[in-house]
Amino acid sequence: MTTALGSAAEILRAAKIVEGVVGNAWATDADGRFIYVTPDALTFLNLTLDDLNTPPEEGSLGWKRVIHPEDYEAAAATWRHSLRSGEPYNVEHRMLLANGAYGWGRSTGQPLHDGLGRILGWYGTVIDAGVSTSADNRPSSQTTDAPVHDAASNTPPLNLVHPHDRPAAEQAMARAFWHGIPQIVSYRRRQADGSYRWAELRAEPGYAVSVDVDPMVSKPGERWATSDTLGETVEAVRGARAVEGLFGAAFAFDPSGTFTYATPIAQTSIALTLEDLNEPLSVNSFLDGGDLGWKRSVHPDDYEDVAAALRRCLRTGEQFHHEWRVLRTSGQWVWHRFAVRPTHDTQGRITGWYGVGIDIDVYKKTEAALRERERELSQLIDMVPSHLWRLSPDGEPTFFNKRMADFLGMDAADMASPGMSRLDRLIATVHPDDAAEFGNALNRSLASGERFAMRYRLRRADGVYHWMSSRAEPLRNEEDRIVQWYGLCHDIDDQVHAEDALRESERSLRQLIETLPALIYCAAPDGKPIYRSQQLREFLGFNLEDKDEGARSRLVGTLDAIIHPDDLAVVKERYGHSLESGEPYALQHRLRRSDGEYRWVETRTAAMRNAEGAIVQWNGVCFDIEDQVRAQEELRLSQESLARASQAASLAELSASIAHEVNQPLAAVVANSHACQRWLNADPPNLERAQKTVERITRDANSAADVVNRIRALFRQSAEARTGASITGVVAEAREVLTEEALRRGARMDVAVESGLPTVRLDRVQIQQVLVNLIRNGLDAMNSLAGPRIVSIRARRSEEMVRIEIADRGRGVEFPERIFEPFFTTKGDGMGMGLAICRSIVESHGGRLWAEKNEPQGAKFIFTLPIEPDATP
Ligand code: ADP
Repeated sequence: MTTALGSAAEILRAAKIVEGVVGNAWATDADGRFIYVTPDALTFLNLTLDDLNTPPEEGSLGWKRVIHPEDYEAAAATWRHSLRSGEPYNVEHRMLLANGAYGWGRSTGQPLHDGLGRILGWYGTVIDAGVSTSADNRPSSQTTDAPVHDAASNTPPLNLVHPHDRPAAEQAMARAFWHGIPQIVSYRRRQADGSYRWAELRAEPGYAVSVDVDPMVSKPGERWATSDTLGETVEAVRGARAVEGLFGAAFAFDPSGTFTYATPIAQTSIALTLEDLNEPLSVNSFLDGGDLGWKRSVHPDDYEDVAAALRRCLRTGEQFHHEWRVLRTSGQWVWHRFAVRPTHDTQGRITGWYGVGIDIDVYKKTEAALRERERELSQLIDMVPSHLWRLSPDGEPTFFNKRMADFLGMDAADMASPGMSRLDRLIATVHPDDAAEFGNALNRSLASGERFAMRYRLRRADGVYHWMSSRAEPLRNEEDRIVQWYGLCHDIDDQVHAEDALRESERSLRQLIETLPALIYCAAPDGKPIYRSQQLREFLGFNLEDKDEGARSRLVGTLDAIIHPDDLAVVKERYGHSLESGEPYALQHRLRRSDGEYRWVETRTAAMRNAEGAIVQWNGVCFDIEDQVRAQEELRLSQESLARASQAASLAELSASIAHEVNQPLAAVVANSHACQRWLNADPPNLERAQKTVERITRDANSAADVVNRIRALFRQSAEARTGASITGVVAEAREVLTEEALRRGARMDVAVESGLPTVRLDRVQIQQVLVNLIRNGLDAMNSLAGPRIVSIRARRSEEMVRIEIADRGRGVEFPERIFEPFFTTKGDGMGMGLAICRSIVESHGGRLWAEKNEPQGAKFIFTLPIEPDATP
């Protein structure tokens, strides 16, 4: 029993020494039952000692709870093997930490033997395999009092401290508590039997541990004399021995820094013996700035720091933790972490140092690689031409990349300002008009986990607001909990201004189009209407889509609805032609207004083409020319009635005078005819009287003929009004007079005058009258004609004459021998004087007028006029 208790104490001591160096330790009995684990480690793992000893299920180990399932089997097998064989235990595995995450660790264990070589128990530690976690930096939140020399006792150690040592111990604990500086003091601890044994108190900010260091591991039961300097040295060496089993490279040195011990592994791994380590390389002692042989094993870049730190520790008694590159026997520089701590005598004087060097090369290199990666990444992040940011799950900014920090003029850390959360501070950088929406959207995303996306104005350091397009998405962990929000914020200020300007110019263009006093429209390349200006929409009274009906296209539907039926055919033909050929389109036609009234418009449409010349759109404009057309029509009507009036006036005058002149002889002819009839009907007939009345009839008829001759002579006497003129001009004038009338009657005049015709002496008005009369007769003749109504007018030189032909496509002349007689007409409203007068006029000019058949149909009236003898063409 005492043996068992004794061996437990031995193992605990060994574990405590390890803990002193590494920060955590564990101890088990020979069967692997835990008898001690550093309290902080238990907290760290959220376990009790009982948990570790109680298997979660049959056949497993208690610590299965905290080992990653994938690593447990291998670790358990190695541990069982160690327990059976006594071989050291050394396994890497993942451990479940109290915060729910797994972390990599390396567990090492070492058996402790009694004098007969039997295993008393095991002690060991777990090193954090993550990077640069030193024992002293571990969080410590637990207040624990663990008197370890006696597992049964929970009494605070101060009661057991020798009265002489108590002030120092109290002071150390107070200092640790109030100043957060770990303290270690040696003191004499009262045993159950009243005797004192040396113990060490390790006080940390939150707890204190007492370690019984009296009987050292290597020599159980041996008392350690404080006055014996060899004994003091031995204490450090014992410390070194306790940790060497775990880590191999352990060592000890005296207060001056002279090595007193180095494990064989340590010596062989750097190919330096204890003597080599202590070989003076300069006159000065180490403490006075001199160098010792071990300098050779330290990388030149690291040495000065190492030596300075060690000298400081040697002077102050502070624990020493340092990392440097060690020159291995193989010639390689290998990163090591060194932990060294002092041992003290009763007066608290340092009696020596012991420590250990752990190979951390892999971690160091991983760390360096990670750092390099991180540097590259952060460079990338800073170089991305965008603002990148990170928020905590509750919206606190935790990171801005350089661009963003430069833009805002502050870092994520600077966001903290009194009386305002960092999130509110972030919201405050947004334009007041956008801030509320920004805050709402962000909070909504934070609450729901949905992606955030918004455009808003963000204030730059100089106070100028810039438009930003921002997005953020959450990063989730394995349990789907949001751990971070990552955001990207793109400066779109230029873009937004360009868009604004574009919108503005589009708006003003649109306004321009809408307010132009014209009806404007656009159509697709195939003619489908795609746009109508406000004025056109109002004019038509319906929308583009309203004509998308049935099988008819929108274009056809629209045209049918808006074009006057009489104009529809020509509009369709001409518009179709333009669409096909790409030629511009221009036409005057009637357009139906929303109130049903047709108005004359002039439509012009042209193709808009792209860089390749392909038509992309048709743009058209439509002017209301109703007023203009009406004015023209009125003008034409008034011209026509004027012309008619003047014609009617001259003809009425003429008829009146003819009637007057002719009436008397005709009345006499009628009276004499009756008288003659009576004389002839008498019984017997009075032939003599009859003869006389016939003579009178002949006389009166002759006098009537004289009247007509006299009228015709009237025209012959107009020779004074004649001037030399070009027939071309006279033809053009006649045509001008009849243009409107021809159009109205659906006919056209086809004029061909030979160029360079010589001048003719003529009475302009009279020859115009001839032309007008002949052309109008031609139009009359084609009144009921179905085919094209064309009057062709030709003028050419024929020997010493100018020959003018007026041809139509009518029925032709029915009574060619009578038409030139005065008063011969076949028309209901005709007077029958036209041709007679025309012939008189032509003949009075020295020319001739006659009629011919036109080929293939119709009549042709030809007249000639003599060329002026000295006329030049
Ligand atoms: P009006 O035109 O008043 O009848 P005109 O002397 O000009 O008097 O014509 C006499 C007649 O000659 C016409 O009524 C018509 O029968 C005939 N005539 C004249 N021009 C043509 C023509 N181009 N084609 C056929 N008949 C014609």
